[in-house]
Amino acid sequence: MKILMIGAHQDDNEFRCGGLAHKYVKMGYEVRFLSMCNGCGGHHIMTPEETTACRAKESAAVAELLGLQYDVWDIDDCTLVADLETRRRLIRYIREFAPDMIITHRPNDYHADHRAAGQLVQDASYLLIVPHECPDAPAMKKMPLIMYNVDNFKNPEFRGDIVLDMDDEIDTKMKIADLNVCQVYEWLPYTKGLTVPEGKEERFEWLKGMNITPETTDEEVMAVTHGYAVRFAKVAARFRKELIERYGEERGSKIRYAEAFEICEYGGALTEELNKKLFDL
Ligand SMILES: [Zn+2]
Repeated sequence: MKILMIGAHQDDNEFRCGGLAHKYVKMGYEVRFLSMCNGCGGHHIMTPEETTACRAKESAAVAELLGLQYDVWDIDDCTLVADLETRRRLIRYIREFAPDMIITHRPNDYHADHRAAGQLVQDASYLLIVPHECPDAPAMKKMPLIMYNVDNFKNPEFRGDIVLDMDDEIDTKMKIADLNVCQVYEWLPYTKGLTVPEGKEERFEWLKGMNITPETTDEEVMAVTHGYAVRFAKVAARFRKELIERYGEERGSKIRYAEAFEICEYGGALTEELNKKLFDL
């Protein structure tokens, strides 16, 4: 199976579907990350050129950790638009890889780049099988399944169609977060007015946000506003009902960390066979 995860920025795939990516790599599936933007906008001290170079290094480290190919396009942050040129670039890119599934942003999102990325995937979806569109890149025979990554936006609210247990991936997910040094320890705390402790171990503890134990309740998790372990735990807390539906009361009620996905109705169908290969895990 071939899986393409498309984020507007480096770290969008990592934080939303990095656990699933890692599971797939371990299953022998071919996973590719695409960041449509180059990361130039994500720092308050480094120049855009320095930030781009720093982000490229961090993404290479993530790629090595997860064992996947990581492509970064040369589009500056905050300039991604769903225009014809970018749509055609994306059509050619997707056709060349020919994935069975694409995961991306919903086009309902606070960030213009996220919206554009989701829109571009939607716009490309049907055209992937249209031979006269981008005839230099042979059309696909069928549309890939398209899924959206979880977000917190409410108009309309994200639907947890597929919610997966990530308890065995939390260590990897935290390692991924830790590798995005200039984002999680520098840029994002700056935007939120947070102070990061000195020292690698101290800052990593801080990055988790909260020590989550089997006794921690969903209400306690939902009340904490900072941290990446917390962020991943919130997905499980928010979609507790879906986790219990999938895994049963016994396991579903105990899962601490999850990733959630919504089916995009413009992609290929999630058949029973595909569901088994992709989400039965
Ligand atoms: Zn982003």
